[in-house]
Amino acid sequence: MPVKNRFAELHDDITAIRRDLHAHPEILFDTHRTSQIVADRLTAIGCDEVTTGIGRTGVVGVIKGKTDLSGKVIGLRADMDALPITEATGLDYASQTPGAMHACGHDGHTAMLLGAAQYLAETRNFDGTVVVIFQPAEEGGGGGREMCEDGMMDRWNIDEVYGMHNWPGRPVGSFAIRPGAFFAATDQFDVVIEGKGGHAAKPQETVDSTLIAAHCVTALQSIASRNADPVDQVVVSVTSIESSSKAYNVIAQRVHLRGTVRTMSPGMRALAEQRLVAICEGTAATFGARADVTYHKGYPCMVNHDDQTAFAADVARAVSGDCAEAPLVMGGEDFAFMLEERPGAYILVGNGDTASVHHPEYNFNDDAIPAGCSWWAEIVERRMPAA
Ligand SMILES: [Zn+2]
Ligand SMILES: [Zn+2]
Repeated sequence: MPVKNRFAELHDDITAIRRDLHAHPEILFDTHRTSQIVADRLTAIGCDEVTTGIGRTGVVGVIKGKTDLSGKVIGLRADMDALPITEATGLDYASQTPGAMHACGHDGHTAMLLGAAQYLAETRNFDGTVVVIFQPAEEGGGGGREMCEDGMMDRWNIDEVYGMHNWPGRPVGSFAIRPGAFFAATDQFDVVIEGKGGHAAKPQETVDSTLIAAHCVTALQSIASRNADPVDQVVVSVTSIESSSKAYNVIAQRVHLRGTVRTMSPGMRALAEQRLVAICEGTAATFGARADVTYHKGYPCMVNHDDQTAFAADVARAVSGDCAEAPLVMGGEDFAFMLEERPGAYILVGNGDTASVHHPEYNFNDDAIPAGCSWWAEIVERRMPAA
């Protein structure tokens, strides 16, 4: 089965929705306009139930199949939020909001799931219930976590969840997936090194926080090179070094390091945190200073479930003829929280040879719409075949 014919007919409509969302990007939980458009559309296409305000600005729609002998409920999730980036595409439907841009293609994800919802509401050719999930704040805000904390999975008795993200560099409409750990746990850290400031010409009277910070930055790279099992993944990146002094002749009292830790397993995550704290505190103590380390746990590792991943790959092969094995991604993905609550799978759909996500010249590729929508619809019709 190639893409469904209905999505060729709906392609222009779905593209128009996508481009309107693109022109009006909204960040984190402030997806008020987008959520309203989604809720209105779900109502217009005949969803049996539309609920707003789940996870602050999240929207949930329910579509019942012709029958419900299976009693099964499948959740399909899209993200709605944009990024704080100034768009540089020059498109005629480019962002009209200064400093905000749909640079990760969530406009495309939302439009594709709305298109799939319309088809499913029109045909209802399945035995069970579909719950379409539109979440805010994927880009660092934890909107998926908040929807789960609002009891979404239990409230709608969701059995399985599926997610999709566009992927620049893959052929348009082709798919890639992998079972198990897929996207990294994304943690952040602050390290404040408190020394003793003074005159740059009298170092013997100071405790040099800058020298200590430099030792810490170097030593932190030993987590990946000396503490981690070489076949396991960990990234430790110090991304900011901020001194309390900008003078040429002053030894700074204080240096603030910031950075991120990316890991693919709970064990490695715990090891990286423990070593980061020990290295910074120990290095500071060695030189007679103090390091205050704050470790902020972000999104957990996103883990695809084996059975649902194999099924999602079968559906992808049916839609586009092939499904590649995706590489590990050291970026984070808020869908991880949903996959912690329910079995499911997350797949990549090719965006073609475009700028990468989070780049000011990125744009979602509307040519991916028929394949993306067909995958959603086929997940439902194959997992809950009509009675
Ligand atoms: Zn993103
Ligand atoms: Zn994204």
